[in-house]
Order: sequence, then structure tokens, then C-alpha cells
Amino acid sequence: MEKDTFEYSVEQFADLQILRYRVPGFENLSLKQKKLVYYLSEAALEGRDILFDQNGCDNLQIRRMLEAVYIHFKGDRETASFKALEVYLKRVWFSSGIYHHYSCDKFLPGFSKDYLTDVLATIDEAFLPMKDGETLQEMCDKLFPLIFNPEIKSKRVNQADGEDLVVTSAANYYEGVTQEEAEAFYAARKEADDPLRPMMHGMNSRLVKKDGILQEEVWKVGGMYSAAIEKIIGWLEKAKDVAENEAQRKVIALLVEFYRSGDLKLFDDYSIAWLKDVESQVDFVNGFIESYGDPLGLKASWESIVNFKDLEATHRTETISANAQWFEDHSPVESRFKKEKVKGVSAKVITAAVLAGDLYPASAIGINLPNSNWIRSEHGSKSVTIGNLTDAYSKAARGNGFRQEFAYSDKEVELMDRYADITDDLHTDLHECLGHGSGKLLPGVDPDALKAYGSTVEEARADLFGLYYLPDAKLVELGLTPDAEAYKAEYYGYMMNGLMTQLVRIEPGCNIEEAHMRNRQLIARWALERGSADKVVEIVKVDGKSYVRVNDYVKLRVLFGELLAEIQRIKSEGDYEAARLLVEQYGVQVDAQLHTEVLERYRKLNLAPYKGFVNPVYTAVTDKEGHITDVTVSYDEGYAEQMLRYSRDYANL
Ligand code: ZN
Repeated sequence: MEKDTFEYSVEQFADLQILRYRVPGFENLSLKQKKLVYYLSEAALEGRDILFDQNGCDNLQIRRMLEAVYIHFKGDRETASFKALEVYLKRVWFSSGIYHHYSCDKFLPGFSKDYLTDVLATIDEAFLPMKDGETLQEMCDKLFPLIFNPEIKSKRVNQADGEDLVVTSAANYYEGVTQEEAEAFYAARKEADDPLRPMMHGMNSRLVKKDGILQEEVWKVGGMYSAAIEKIIGWLEKAKDVAENEAQRKVIALLVEFYRSGDLKLFDDYSIAWLKDVESQVDFVNGFIESYGDPLGLKASWESIVNFKDLEATHRTETISANAQWFEDHSPVESRFKKEKVKGVSAKVITAAVLAGDLYPASAIGINLPNSNWIRSEHGSKSVTIGNLTDAYSKAARGNGFRQEFAYSDKEVELMDRYADITDDLHTDLHECLGHGSGKLLPGVDPDALKAYGSTVEEARADLFGLYYLPDAKLVELGLTPDAEAYKAEYYGYMMNGLMTQLVRIEPGCNIEEAHMRNRQLIARWALERGSADKVVEIVKVDGKSYVRVNDYVKLRVLFGELLAEIQRIKSEGDYEAARLLVEQYGVQVDAQLHTEVLERYRKLNLAPYKGFVNPVYTAVTDKEGHITDVTVSYDEGYAEQMLRYSRDYANL
């Protein structure tokens, strides 16, 4: 295998790491598809300013003021204050505003008000973003309290029970409106709806009180954000001309119509058309989608992703699904708990080509849309995982010292470096495509019999199904694993994670709450204890540090099979008491001493807890007449470089 020299890690600052992702398969798209990706990518980037404004009404001006300093400041750029200003600007870019992208709290600069005042005084005023009639002093008086005072508009989204969530949230979705007024306004809107097919009222507008009257400023052509939306439409029109088929052309046409009119009924039509377009290889989301930035969950933040089907990975999940019955028949579960007829789920894997708005730089690794509940129940949903982003995460993690610190020896590090990318994906596929769909309840058993322990048991069932089959010769035969050794990488990684390293995500003194984490510890601790007489797995100390050592991989598989049989029995019979005992005994309690040690060792690695991506750069190659003859992709743009280019070329608001 050729050595991978691609640099996945770009840089690290504050609590953030910037990564780069690759777009494998882009070169193999047809010229028409490449053009489609190119036009849709431009449409994605044109919406960037919308999100900054949605996240706070002064974010754009703050960003532009800091960018002017960053570009034009001629003084000493090596001082601690300037360095702090640089970090602050990078954080503003990352969060599309002055609030942490994840916690929603305002983050504070590491430089002083006086420093910024002095620096601004050295910049030619022509470069500074004062609004019409505003002096530099007036701009500073307005923006400085927002930047420096933690008490003023301190949270982008406030969820604290008992407070007026609309008034106390800094996001730019309401103005002069109380929570009660906003709720009453939209409750009244709903009354005119078909109760079975309610529209998503409020999702594409800002609600304001003007002259004592509540009114919506709708995000559409001729309305709020018109300048950016018109640019988006311009590229969508070009994309429509190179659409792969009629269904896709209809999707784009409906989206354009929606952007023109703001009519929510059209948005529902668009969503349904988008769901039905399953044939196209290239796909995209572009619009007002995510509602978690509004404390009332109505207003939708703008985002875009352009992607295409990962044919190879999708083929992998289809292979697994096509053999679902074989896996069901050969599992170590008692035959009365098995399904006579089982249908595998084939997961769709996509390759992201560009990320924008609320998916940039921090991105989800899967998409599950649309959000409308009635559309989901009548027409279903599109659920995909983004393979090249997951891949970038794991590749970037390879050289960061984590495995070297926590794995028992070089042998385990090599094993994981060699196989873990493949076996991690494969375990996830087996979990999703087969695990959750396997087995059956005995007649009359209540599906909710396991109550609060149900989701941990369900995740354990799916994980164990995958773990049990990873070493199976069937996987080599199906071409899913390269050889009979590969599974050991997943076994070792799973035990190390379940027994030790997942604890880095738990606060000191806390126990494990989350179902997936409980499941992993349950499986790992159970196997550790059950195999202790034969020393199948041990926790050993070397120079005062704890390590997981797996002595017998073959016996470990037998243990996973035994636990799978027992977990399936518990699920099939609805044995609440057994579920409770298993989860409470193995899945919940944290070993406090080991936890402290793991946290300490992890802290020393100095890894950033949050990650985001820079996009690749697409360049249209044209002939003398200006026709596009090819689209190339390159990966050499830096983080600040990309952000400054976007701010310059897509400054639409
Ligand atoms: Zn699951």
C-alpha cells in the first residue's frame, strides 16, 4: 500500500482543530457532473454571510472590522495582543460569530479594549466597515460592549427554564418580541393549516415588532437577505441546466421558486421532490434547515452541502445487506430468538464536495432530512453518512499521539494504524445494516419492556453482532476484510476504548449516562471479568500507567458470542431485571482512579476537543470562448487564507 502523505491536519488554536478532507472520486465524475458540483458549490458559498447575521445582528460588522485589522495592520504583529486578536478572529470565523459554536456562550478576547482602540486608529478608515453616517467612535461604542463585556447578550441560544428565551437569546431571529408574543403569533398561524400536514411556520423569517405590530421579515428575493439569495439563485439556475435528470431539475426549480417567493408550501413540495430524487449521483442541500439556533425551534439557520454518492462504500453496505439472512442464521443466538426472514438495511454513504453555512467549518458526519414530521411519515427521509469526513477524522487522529499513549505496545499501534480505518467502518456497517435489524421478540413481549435500559441493551446487541462477525471467514470471502488478522485491530481498539479511553469524555466525578457509552463499557467490562480466569484480557500496569492487554483474541470472540446470545435473550423475553443488572453492574459506574489517570494522560496530549474543516478549492478550466472544459480540485488552501477569500468574494450582505 502506498504511504498516505496527505496532510489532514491544518492547524490548532483555542479548543479547535482545523482539518482538511479529500474528495475521492471527483475526478471520475463526468464533465457535466463536475460542472454541477461546481455551480452548486458556488451557490453554497454565496450564502455564507446569512449565517453570520442570523447568529447575531452585529457579527458581520465585527468580522469585517477584525479582518481589516488582520489585513492592514502595519505595526508589530508578534506581540501577545496581536496574536490574541488573530486567535479571536479565527474563532469568530469558526463560529460564524462571537459565540462558541457548540456551547453557544460568548467567548472573550485575549486582548484589551485599549489595544483594539489603538490598533483601529492606525488603519485607514476607508478599510473599516462603518455603516452609513457612522463614525469610527460610534462603531466602537456599539461593538466593544458586545465583544468585551461578558454580561451583555451573553448567550446565542438560552435554554434556561423559566426565563424569556426569546428576549435572553442573542441570535438575530426576533427583535422587540417576547417569547409569549412569538408563541402566540405562530400558534395563530398554525390554525389555518391542514392539521395532518402543518407547514413549518417561521422557519424562513425574522419576527419583529414595528409600530406595535408583529411582522415577519421574510428571507427571500426582495426581502431580508435578498442580495445573497439572488446570488445563490444565479448559480442554481446554471446548475439546473446541467442537472443529471428531470427529477433533479425539478428539485432545483422548486428550490429557486421557494427562494423567490418565500412560500412555505413550496418548501414542502421541494422537500418531497428532493426525497424522491434517489437516482442522481450528485445531491445537495441548500437552504434554511437547522432549527437548534432558535430557542423556540422555529427559525432555521442557513446551510449547504454538495455531495455525491460514494459508490464503493455503498456497494459495501449493499453486500452486507444482501447476505443478511446468512448472518442471522449463523449467529450464536438461540434459534427461537432469530428472525426466519431478515432484511438488511443498506446504508447510503456520500462524499462531501463542499460544506457551507451551519455545516462549515464544523460539520455533522451524517444527514437525516427533511425535518418536517408529516413529510417523514408520509414520504420517508434521506439518511446518509459522509464517508470522506469520517475518514479525515480518523486519519488526522492517527499521528496525534493518542494511540501511542494508550495502546499497550507498538504492536497494537501498528495493528490499528494498519487496519482500524477499514475495520471501524466495517463494524459500523455491521452494526447499522444487520445488528439493529436482527433477532425477534417472543410473541406478546412489550417492545418497551426494558424501559430506561432499552437503548443501552439495543446498542449492545447491535455492537456485539458486529464484533462477533468481524473475525468470520465469511467477511474475507465477501471481500470486506483484507485478511484474517484485520479484526484484531477492532477488538483491541474496542476494549481499550470501552475499558479506558472513552472516559476522556466524562467529567471528573460523573458516571456514564449516554447509551452508546454505557453499551461499550458494558461489553468491555463483562468480557474482562468473564475471561479473567483464562486471562483473555487484562489491565496491566507499566511504569505506573494502566494499559489494556488482549492475550487471546480467539477466546475474546467466544465471549462476545456468549454475551450476544444473552443480550438477545434479554431483549426477546423482555427480561427487565436481567437488563438492569447487566447495565448497572458493568455499564454505569466509572472506576474513579482509572478515570483520573486517563484524564491526566489525555490532557498532556494537548488535543483539541472540537474540529472543523477547510473546503477544497474547485477551479473551472475554460476554453477561449469561456466554456468550462474541466473542473479541478485542489487542497492547498490554508484556514485564514480561505476565510479571507470567502469574505472578499462572497461579501453579499
Ligand atoms: Zn446503533
